Amino acid sequence: MDLQYEINELWEELNSSIQAVLRSGHFIMGPNVQAFEEEAAKFLGVKHAIGCNSGTDALVIALTAAGVGPGDEVITTSFTFFATAEAISQVRAHPVFVDIDPLTLNIDPLQIEKVITSRTKAIIPVHLFGQAVDMQPITELCIKYGLKIIEDVAQAFGGSYKGKMLGSIGDVGCFSFFPTKNLGAYGDGGLLTTNDDGIADVSRMLRAHGSRKKYYNELIGYNSRLDELQAAILRVKLPHLKRWNELRKSVASVYNELLHEASGITTPYHAPYADHVYHQYTIRIAEGKRDHVAHVLQDHGISTMIYYPTPVHQLPVYAHLGYKLPHTREAANEVLSLPIWPQMEREIQEKIVESLRHAMN
Ligand SMILES: *Cc1c(COP(=O)(O)O)cnc(C)c1O
Repeated sequence: MDLQYEINELWEELNSSIQAVLRSGHFIMGPNVQAFEEEAAKFLGVKHAIGCNSGTDALVIALTAAGVGPGDEVITTSFTFFATAEAISQVRAHPVFVDIDPLTLNIDPLQIEKVITSRTKAIIPVHLFGQAVDMQPITELCIKYGLKIIEDVAQAFGGSYKGKMLGSIGDVGCFSFFPTKNLGAYGDGGLLTTNDDGIADVSRMLRAHGSRKKYYNELIGYNSRLDELQAAILRVKLPHLKRWNELRKSVASVYNELLHEASGITTPYHAPYADHVYHQYTIRIAEGKRDHVAHVLQDHGISTMIYYPTPVHQLPVYAHLGYKLPHTREAANEVLSLPIWPQMEREIQEKIVESLRHAMN
């Protein structure tokens, strides 16, 4: 990923926005945070958007505001960034891991019902790599069993499911503005979205020490605000996101074309219900060749990434739970994410694919 393209493109605008914040002297919960929250809510088609300090905090606050607490169970995927499960454990609830659909790499909705118990409170579907989870069967289960849905949209800002923006489908949506995400700040930041006034009210309190009014604390909360400088930067970037996501899709289709019929390589599956915004372009390389290929590419000066080398259920903190998730495990051994950014030139992609084909031989 290369951020210098967008920084060059927006240099003047970024500079004047940042300078305006410096001159205003307003650094915490100022007018840019409020304006960004309104603009993001409009973009995503939700009633409330609430800034906070990170995507991880958005998940912790969302779980608490949705009423998840000690002893509860929350169903999620193990093929995700650690923070998804960590947030569940932070609120003293238990993550319950379900295997992935090997095609989409997202949680397999058909395997959820059998792990629902009387302690299950919520499901966190993660829209991995920019592609929507199949939300309809999950929504039906949540209605049937009275569960909350907390969407982890950290990798899919601007993506949609059957025409509905991700983060507007469940009870809460949680976004991250980590710099490399599709909409990234130049530091940490996060956002929570909801159409539920009660969840919105509690979330706004939780991010600010459990208070509605300064120095009048009603709950034990957090210091987890989106800061004014990051909000100002995000306001410059948000109007470009649609175009950047379109560019990501074209970069992905060029990869698909260049990798057509490349033997031993599986290109990403694109589900018909998803508008995939390609946070990552992730291929699969079978037969234990993946690590070798990554090393050869590195020797050619091409950095690839493995998201994720160890599934969450096999990490030291959760390994004792004893989960066996064969599709997740197999994916972790085969996935390789190729470089992708919106402004990527075709020639760079051709070089990468040439090296990739060479490495496969
Ligand atoms: C990045 C990410 C997070 C955490 O976001 P931070 O802003 O880094 O705290 C959570 N879940 C997923 C799937 C992510 O990719």
